[in-house]
Amino acid sequence: MTSAATTTWEGSRLTLARRMDILGTETAFDVLARVHALRAQGADIVSFGLGEPDFETPDHIKAACKRALDENYTHYGPSQGLPELRQAIAAYFSRTRGIPVGPENVVVAPGAKPMLFSAMMALVNPGDEVIYPSPGYPIYESVADWIGAVSVPARLTEESEWSYDIEALAGLITPRTRAIVLNSPQNPTGGMLLASDMEQIARIAIENDLWVITDEVYSQIVFDHPFASILSVPGMASRTVAIDGFSKTYAMTGWRIGYAVCRPDLAVQLSRIETNLHSCTAMMTQRAALCALESSQEPSIAMAAAFRRRASLITDLLNEIPGVKCVKPRGAFYVFPNVTEACAAAGLADANQLCDYLLTEAGVAVLPRTCFGRRLEPQEYIRLSFATSDENIVEGIRRIRKALAAR
Ligand code: PLP
Repeated sequence: MTSAATTTWEGSRLTLARRMDILGTETAFDVLARVHALRAQGADIVSFGLGEPDFETPDHIKAACKRALDENYTHYGPSQGLPELRQAIAAYFSRTRGIPVGPENVVVAPGAKPMLFSAMMALVNPGDEVIYPSPGYPIYESVADWIGAVSVPARLTEESEWSYDIEALAGLITPRTRAIVLNSPQNPTGGMLLASDMEQIARIAIENDLWVITDEVYSQIVFDHPFASILSVPGMASRTVAIDGFSKTYAMTGWRIGYAVCRPDLAVQLSRIETNLHSCTAMMTQRAALCALESSQEPSIAMAAAFRRRASLITDLLNEIPGVKCVKPRGAFYVFPNVTEACAAAGLADANQLCDYLLTEAGVAVLPRTCFGRRLEPQEYIRLSFATSDENIVEGIRRIRKALAAR
């Protein structure tokens, strides 16, 4: 949690609303700012920090946006999203999640991230408890806390290849629990929940009358197991908000477009939030997204294949470093190695010190465990994104190995 520091500008003190004291952040962006600053000074940095595909948006998607501009998709549009895009998303979801949904089930937003926010705003009251994965994407915790809910971390363990211990999860439920957040494939561990996990979590949600907010932005980047959505489990459609987007699947992070799929009466309410926040998602972006869904999926399939290959490469190289233990990811583009022994052997207090050392001494950017939600375990971990070239992976891991051996 960061605190809004007191600042002054032109002699006047900035006083903020108290709620700014409890707003967290994505500290990964701070590390990236350091990387940019070092590079600007001429430093040669191999970055494993970035949470976005290193591929460019495919040309046919860019062309659709250019066409949309020429066709004057430059005005406000419906807050819920263009009907033709919602129709295409519904068809995609019906196909990939095996449930019949229509455009009335879909709300488009400028990214999956705003949808996480809107879903919690719409469903969670102050004082309600929200269970979220830890290590996990930090926004779940920061948004839950910010809206006055109580964020309850559920531990993911290395031993279970970064999935939930379902019994432990059930043990966290109290009469105040309102929602469980799922993220599979997962940032930062590359872990994945399988269909059998989903069935057990669904049973817990149904028995305790809970909402499930499932963040499925990495659904198309899976390696050895088929993607499973809790939305596919009978009885879950009425209590699930599934959130997905175009950032990761189509290398469209900067375009800002994502969406939620949920029951139609909730979709209307999420759309009301969109009216208040964004009015609508950029129209030319929506037309590009429509093209992404309706044209060849080959570029996405090729990207996922590259990530699969790199997952093996980076896991193997990390496991060759003394003191480093790395579980092979099941999806997304992250590895989350255990560096407890490496830190101890190098005389570094924790993963934060290791990250500092690697950045300043080895020219390698990685993120510490503390970037990913409240810590529940004694071990030290770092996250490496392998959304970077094979050459960078080989060179970056070589540098890490050398820097650790030098201490
Ligand atoms: N959810 C997870 C788990 C992510 O890792 C990210 C981005 O890193 C997002 C959501 C944000 O997606 P978007 O770019 O669609 O807002």
